[in-house]
This record gives sequence, structure tokens and C-alpha cells, in this order.
Amino acid sequence: MVIHYKCPNCGSDMEFDAVSGMLSCGSCGRKDNIEDFSEEFITTTFSEDEAKQYNCDNCGAVIITEADTTATHCSFCGAGVVLGDRLSGDLAPAKVIPFTISKEEAMAAFRKWCRNGRLTPKGFMTADRVKGITGLYVPFWLYDLDSKADVKAVGTRVRTYTRGNYIYTEKKFYDVYRDIDLSYVKVPVDASEKLDDTLMDKLEPYNYQKFKDFKTPYLAGYIAEKYNFSDEELFSRVKTKVQPYIDSYIRSTISGYSSVNYKSKNIRTKKTKAHYVLLPVWMVYYDFDKQEHTFAMNGQTGKIVGKPPISLGKVASWFGGIAAAAFVTLKIISYAVGGVLW
Ligand SMILES: [Zn+2]
Ligand SMILES: [Zn+2]
Repeated sequence: MVIHYKCPNCGSDMEFDAVSGMLSCGSCGRKDNIEDFSEEFITTTFSEDEAKQYNCDNCGAVIITEADTTATHCSFCGAGVVLGDRLSGDLAPAKVIPFTISKEEAMAAFRKWCRNGRLTPKGFMTADRVKGITGLYVPFWLYDLDSKADVKAVGTRVRTYTRGNYIYTEKKFYDVYRDIDLSYVKVPVDASEKLDDTLMDKLEPYNYQKFKDFKTPYLAGYIAEKYNFSDEELFSRVKTKVQPYIDSYIRSTISGYSSVNYKSKNIRTKKTKAHYVLLPVWMVYYDFDKQEHTFAMNGQTGKIVGKPPISLGKVASWFGGIAAAAFVTLKIISYAVGGVLW
């Protein structure tokens, strides 16, 4: 099923506009609310062989997609289309965070990021290196988890004092036992095969207050993918992800000893729920030195992740400061999120 959103004024294809949060017509400038966009301007076409081939109802061209695409552009007339049958049933996302950063803002941020060739070889941004910019909705699983930790340890306290001509060292040993219940809500794990997991992890956090119930018009004009991995398949990844938070919580409950020796640590994590959501990412592809590079931006907060082509001469003087600053930021984030990750 191919879905087009037609402008009630002029009949052009409308797209989701990140700045206004509405469906917007590129030709006449009309804007419409997604909540009350009239059905009569939504055209849907069914293809004979649903999963394999879609045709654009503007120009009749075959819409070339990969099996996982759920929203794309017609490669001939450029219309933004949504492939509805790939978003229904088990494949229907529960929530979406719409884009709030427009394509222009993303481009401007990219240029600013490269500005003055601060970390890049001279002249990097003098030529137009950008090969493409894509607004992408990435499929994520958000897990609600219950963890139980059973911890046995021995804590040691040491006291030194002087009496007469002797120095005494007193060592006391304490049995430590902790039985801890922890709940984590909405821990995100990227469910797309194509995208790099570390890159996606770095784009966090997203502001979950802005989640909307999923509606297909949010995808109009963007590229979207369906999940490649089910929540069961990614469960081990989410467990690995919360592990350091569980460990640091356990450590925080055992204090006042000069040393702690862990005897056993039993952690069981259960999934209570998994929510299928789409999160917005701007991807910029650029080439430099005959290589392709990627720059990614959180489409909601504007946070940038990516590796610029690095000029080694310049990096030496910079690196110390940057590494220290990044470390402090990470620390602050992990403290701020505490037990629940955000
Ligand atoms: Zn129009
Ligand atoms: Zn077309």
C-alpha cells in the first residue's frame, strides 16, 4: 500500500515539516494539522504483489525500495510516500518522536561543525563535500526491565593507633549482603541492522516527553525503516547496556569500608515490556580523501555524532582537552540519569 498526502489547495505531495510539526506543501506553502488531516486527500494504492513492488500514483514509476523501507521518496518525481503495509500489524510502531530539526538547520550545524577546519585538514569545507543528507526514522526497542541483584561481599575496615612504644593496626571484617530490586524503564536499543550500534548509542538521549502516538503522516518526506531484529533477539544487548548501571548502583550501597571483596554477585534481569518506536536522525554523507564519511545528528535535540576527517598535526594540541571534557560530560550524564537512565 502506497500512501500519498495531497495538498487540498494545489494537489502537490505534502511532507512533514519539522519546524511547524505539521504536514506542509512545498508548492503553495499550505500547512495542515496531522491530527485532523482529511481522509479525502490521502490517496492509497494497493499493488498486486504487495511486498515486492510499489508504484507511485503521481508518475506511475516503480518505487525502488529495500525490503525494510517503510517510507521513502519516489526516485522519479520526488514525492514523499509511505509504505503502509510495512507499518501495520506486528510492524506497527507504538510511538514516534517527530523531527524538530529541519534539513536546513541540520546542514547549517554540519557546516558549523566543520568550520575553520578546526579539526579537519585545511580546505575541507571549501569544496562542497556533501553527497547527501537524509532524514531517517530509525526503529528502536524501548525495554522496561526488572532486575534482581543478590550480592555477597566482605568489607574491611582498618584502624591504626599508637599506644606506648607500639603502633597497632586493627583490621575488622564485615559480611555484607545486599538483595536489591531495580526497575528500568524505556531503555533504548537500535533495532536496525544497517546502522552502527555505537553511533546510535551516542545519539542518545532523546526527550521522551515528546513521544507522539504513531501516525503515518509523520513519515511523509523522510526515509524510514522497519525493525530487523525482534525484541527477543536484542534482549542480550539491552542486558549488557544496563549492566554498568546495576554494578554502579550496587557499589553505591556499600560504603564506609577501606576495601570490599565480592564473593558472589547474582543478577537476573527480566523484560516486563518492549515498545517499538521510531526516532529521528539526520545523516550527512560526505566524501573526503576518496573516502565516505558519515555525520549523524539527533533529529530532536541536535546532538552531533560523527568522525571528521582528522588532521593529525592539529589533533595533537587539541586532543588532551577534548578527551578530558568528553569524559566529564559522560560522567555528568551518567550521574544525572542515576538508576533509570534518563
Ligand atoms: Zn499546495
Ligand atoms: Zn513518482
